[in-house]
Amino acid sequence: MSTSIFLSPHYDDGVLSCGGTIASLALAGRPPVVVTVFGGEVLEELVGDFAHTKHARWGFARADDVLEVRRREDATAAAILGCRTRWLGYFDAIYRGDRYAATAELYGKPTSVEDGLPQLIAGEVLSLPEWEPGATVYVPLAIGNHVDHQLTFAAGRVLARQGVTVFAYEDCPYAIHTPSGVAERLAQVDRQVGEQTLIAIGPTLELRIAAIAAYTSQVPVIFRFTQDMPGAMTAHALRTGGALGPAERFWRVTGDEFRGTDVQAANNNANVGESDVR
Ligand SMILES: [Zn+2]
Repeated sequence: MSTSIFLSPHYDDGVLSCGGTIASLALAGRPPVVVTVFGGEVLEELVGDFAHTKHARWGFARADDVLEVRRREDATAAAILGCRTRWLGYFDAIYRGDRYAATAELYGKPTSVEDGLPQLIAGEVLSLPEWEPGATVYVPLAIGNHVDHQLTFAAGRVLARQGVTVFAYEDCPYAIHTPSGVAERLAQVDRQVGEQTLIAIGPTLELRIAAIAAYTSQVPVIFRFTQDMPGAMTAHALRTGGALGPAERFWRVTGDEFRGTDVQAANNNANVGESDVR
């Protein structure tokens, strides 16, 4: 069985959404690599008002601290799950100038300036030291519609069209606090994904929860809908798996014709130079 590559838009998404599957692969002797896509440097001059608000919620006083703390948290989570990590240099949407300066924009349609970004991300995946023909790539389905999740999903579509086996994972905790978002996103992506697949994670659910807890700057913010993160994660995994026991949910990403507006980005040119988007 070949390499598994999990694309995580931000420092916690892969672990939050499929930490159980990641740990199961590691325990089976096939440690996957989790690649944070929008993991670039956080420079003071990139931190606008909107990003400042986010930093305050995360408890960061200085821009310099953000990357250091988030990478340390990610390394701790990876050690718990037994996976490897890579961090790509794309800027998080909140640091990309005034493109996404408010919540509505952050969860809207990616700006057309970034149409070439999915192609670039797909190219980076194929350039990873861990890449090998036959590798399986996991991307977020983009439940909740965060622009960085949509762009990462679109990168998955680019890879699927090139014959790579790609699965979309159920974005947590979006799917937990807003269950209606799952059906809404599935309607949006229409035939870009196939039937759902469940992966049982009974033996590794506790590892997933322990790894999520390692993102100490993020957990109070992203789980602000509950005081009980482990309870919420367990209940969701049980609901997902039904008779299977705790499970995580995936959809095969199809490689056929592009449809819908959000993936036109992936189908289009790569006019945008890397310097524009990093
Ligand atoms: Zn994210």
